[in-house]
Amino acid sequence: MTPGPKGPVRASPWSRFQRAHLHDYPPRAQGLWVGLVAAGTLAAAWALSRLVASPELWGSTLLAVAVVVLASQFPLTVPQTKLVFTGSDAFLFGTLALLGTPAAVVAAGVDAAVSSFKRSRRLSSWFVSPASSMTAMLVAGGCAGLVERGLARLGLPAEAATLAALALAGLLHHLANTGSLELVVTAKRHAWPRWRNWFADTSWMGAVAVLAAFVAAIIVTTIGQFGGEAVAVSSIVALAVMALLHGTVRRIEAERAVQESRIAQAEEEARVNAQRFSAAFTHAAGGMAIVGNDGCVLRVNRALCELLGREEPRLLGAPLLQLIAEGDRDRLQSLLAPLEGQDEARVSAEVRLLRPAGEVWVSLHASRFADPAASGNCLIFQAHDITDRRLAEVRLQYAAYHDGLTSLPNRLAFMERLNRDIGRVAADQRLHFALLLLDLDRFKMVNDSLGHGAGNELLVEVSTRLQQCVRPDDFVGRLGGDEFAVLFDGVGDQSEAIRLAHRVAESVGRPMRIGGTEFTVQVSIGLTMSSLGRRSADELIRDADIAMYDAKGRGRGRLSVFDTSMHQYVADRLRMEAQLRRAIADGHIRLDYQPLYELESGRLMGFEALARWQHPEHGEVDVPKFIALAEESGFIAQLTPWVLETASAQLVTWMRDIPEARDLRMHVNISARDLSLPGFAATVSAALGRARLSGHALTLEITETSLMQSMEHALGVMDALRRMGVGFSVDDFGTGYSSLSYLSTLPIDSLKIDRSFVNGMDRGPQSVEIVRAVQRLGNTLHMRVIAEGVETAAQLQTLREIGVDAGQGYLLGRPQPAQAWPAILGESRRQPAPG
Ligand code: C2E
Ligand code: CA
Ligand code: CA
Repeated sequence: MTPGPKGPVRASPWSRFQRAHLHDYPPRAQGLWVGLVAAGTLAAAWALSRLVASPELWGSTLLAVAVVVLASQFPLTVPQTKLVFTGSDAFLFGTLALLGTPAAVVAAGVDAAVSSFKRSRRLSSWFVSPASSMTAMLVAGGCAGLVERGLARLGLPAEAATLAALALAGLLHHLANTGSLELVVTAKRHAWPRWRNWFADTSWMGAVAVLAAFVAAIIVTTIGQFGGEAVAVSSIVALAVMALLHGTVRRIEAERAVQESRIAQAEEEARVNAQRFSAAFTHAAGGMAIVGNDGCVLRVNRALCELLGREEPRLLGAPLLQLIAEGDRDRLQSLLAPLEGQDEARVSAEVRLLRPAGEVWVSLHASRFADPAASGNCLIFQAHDITDRRLAEVRLQYAAYHDGLTSLPNRLAFMERLNRDIGRVAADQRLHFALLLLDLDRFKMVNDSLGHGAGNELLVEVSTRLQQCVRPDDFVGRLGGDEFAVLFDGVGDQSEAIRLAHRVAESVGRPMRIGGTEFTVQVSIGLTMSSLGRRSADELIRDADIAMYDAKGRGRGRLSVFDTSMHQYVADRLRMEAQLRRAIADGHIRLDYQPLYELESGRLMGFEALARWQHPEHGEVDVPKFIALAEESGFIAQLTPWVLETASAQLVTWMRDIPEARDLRMHVNISARDLSLPGFAATVSAALGRARLSGHALTLEITETSLMQSMEHALGVMDALRRMGVGFSVDDFGTGYSSLSYLSTLPIDSLKIDRSFVNGMDRGPQSVEIVRAVQRLGNTLHMRVIAEGVETAAQLQTLREIGVDAGQGYLLGRPQPAQAWPAILGESRRQPAPG
C-alpha cells in the first residue's frame, strides 16, 4: 500500500481547543491544566457514581448545592481591604459533614463553576476552577473521614472528632484548591510558585475556610440536640444575615468609593490649582515674592528679578527689608506690623526698591496668608513699577513750586514759606524775619531794546546773584516778571536788615554782560520787618510792595523801609489816580505853550505844548510827578490824544486867525508807553483829522530814554507817522545812552539838547564842548539841533556862536496859556534876546 498524497491535515479537536482557549498557556501550564481538569473530572465522576447509588441523598444534595450557590451570591468584602468571603464555605463544609464527600464534591464543583463563570470570560477558567475545587474537596473529604475515624478510635468523643476533622477538611480544601490553581497560574507565567508569598496572600482565605468548616461542624454536631429543623433555621438565619451584611457592606463600599472619588477629585483640583498658581506666579507681569515668617524671601517671580536687576538665587533667602531703600524701611515695617497674625489682611505702600544701579519706585501690596508648607504665616508681595509716574509727579511738583526760567521758588512756594515763617514767629515771640521785595529798574528797557532772550539772560543772572549773596538759611523767590523776594530769617534788627538789603542791591548792581554788552541794572527795594506787627502773608507782601513803590518814586536804585504812614501815601496816591482819571472831563487839565525860535534869524518856529493839572485841592501839580502818575496808572493813553487834539486845534485856530502863524509847527510830548500802544499812529492821525491839521505841522517829542525803551515798536510807528508828514524830535538829548548808529536809522528831524548842558555852559568849557559836539552830530545826521532851557543872554550868545539851529527857554518865552500868545504872533520875525 503506497502512502497517498498528503492532504490537508485536519486539526484534532484538542488542538483546536488548545488554539482557541489555551493559546497563552505554555506547555507546562497546559500539562498542569489538563492534569487538574482530569483530576476534577475523575472526582466528579466518582462523586456522581456514588450519588447515583444513593437516591435518598438526591433531594438533600440538590438543596445543599442550591444553598451553597445562593450563599456565594452575597460575597462580603471586608471594608477598606480586598478580603472577600462568602457564606458558601460554611454550607459547603456543612454539606460535607451532613451528606458526605460525594455531595460536597458536587456542591464545590457547581459553586466554583458558577463563580468562575461570573468572574471570568475564559472557558479554560470555567473548567479548571471547578476541577480544582472538586479535586480539593475529594482530598479534604477523604482525609477528614480518615482523621475522624482515627480520632474516634483514639477515644475522642464523636463531636470533638467531627470538629477536628471538619476543621482539617477546611484547611486541606483551601490548600489543595488554591495551591493547585497557583501552580497553573505561575506556570502560565513561566514561573514557579513562591509558596511563601502564596501563603501570605491566601492565608486569610485559609483562615476563613477553617472557620467556616468549624462553624459548620458546630452546627452539624448540634443537630443531635436540636434536630434537622435547627439546621434549616440556622441556615436561613445565616443566609439572611449574610444577605443583610452583604447589603450593608455594599452600601459602605459604595459610600467609600464615592468618598474616595471625591478625595481624588479634590486632590486633582488642588494639584491643578497649585499648577495654575505656580504658572500665574511665574508669568505674572508684576513682580511677586513670597516672604516667610522670618522676613526672608521664599520665592520670587521672573518679573521681580527683572525689576530688581538680580538673579533668582541671589534673592532667595535674602531678608526682604534689605531690598527696600533705607529711607522706606521703617515706614514699610510699621505698615506690615499690624498684619501679624491676621490672615488675609493686606496693606499697600509706595516704596523704593534697591537695584544694583540705583532705585526703582514701586507700588507694593502685601497680604498675609497661612502657608501650609511654611511654619506660620507668609506674606505675599506684589510690586508694580511706578518710577515713571513718580518721576512725573516729582517733576510736576517741582514745576508747581519753581519758576521755569530761573529755577527759583515761585510765588506759590514763596508764599508757603512766608506763611510758615509767620506761624513760627507767632508761636515764638523771639523769632523775627525781614521781607525784601525787589524790582529791577530798567528791565523793560532791556527786554524791549535787546529782546526777550537778553531779558531772560538778565533775570537768570540776577537770580544767580541773589542766591549767592544771601545766607544759606535765607529764602529767595521770583514772584513774577522782574519782581524777586527774599526772606531773611532770624533778622529782627532793622539796621541789620538794611545792611543785608544793601548787600543784595550792591551784588545785583555790579556790571554784567548780557548778549555781549556790558550792562548794569539797578533794583528798587521795599523792606518790611515781621517785628512791625502781626500780618498775613498777603499783607506783608503788600507792605513790602508799598515800600518798593516808594523807593521807585524817589528815584531808581533806592531802598525804602515800610512804615505805617506809607499806607496813607498809597491811599493818597490811589485817590490822586482816581481824580486824574476824571481830570480831563472836569476841565482840570489845560495846556501851556512855550515858543521855539530859530537862533540865527530869530524867527518863531512854533510852540511846545506842555500839560498842566490844576488840582482842586493841591493846586497845580508838579508836572513830572503828574506825568509819572499818568504813565503808571495808564491814564497817559487818554491824556496824549487829548493833548494832541487840543494843541492841534489851537494851532489851526492861530493859523486861521493870524497869517504869520501859517508855517508854525506844534511840538507835542509823548511818552514811551504811547509808542508801544497798539494803533498809536491811528490815534495821532485821528487827532489830526479832528483838528483838521496837516501832519506836516506836528512834531512829536520823545525823550531819548523812552525811545530806547520802545525801540521794538518805535520804528514801525514812526515810519507810519512819517508818511503823514509828522516830524520827530529827541527830547532831553544827552541824558540817555542812545546808540548813535541806531538814532541815524530813525526818521528824526531834530535833537533837543538837554537843558542841563545849556545851563552848564556858564560854568565851564566842558558843557560847551558837548553842545558843540551835538551840533556837529546834528549836521552830520541832517538833524536840526534845538537848545532847551535858554535862560540867559550869555547862553544865547554862546549857542549862536556855536551855530545851534534853534532855542527855547525862559529867556525867549515862558510856557503860557494860548490866549497870551496872539500878541507876539504878529511879529513873525521877533528878534529874541531883549537887552
Ligand atoms: P520837557 O519836554 O523837557 O519840557 C520842557 C520843560 O522845561 C517844561 O517843564 C518847561 O516848563 C521847562 N522849561 C522851559 N524853559 C525853561 C528854562 O529856561 N528853564 C527851566 N528851568 N525850565 C524850562 P514842565 O512844563 O514842568 O514839563 C516837564 C516835563 O513834563 C516835560 O519836559 C515833559 O517831558 C513832560 N510833559 C509836559 N507836558 C507833557 C505832555 O503833554 N505829555 C507828556 N508826555 N509829557 C509832558
Ligand atoms: Ca519836550
Ligand atoms: Ca526837554
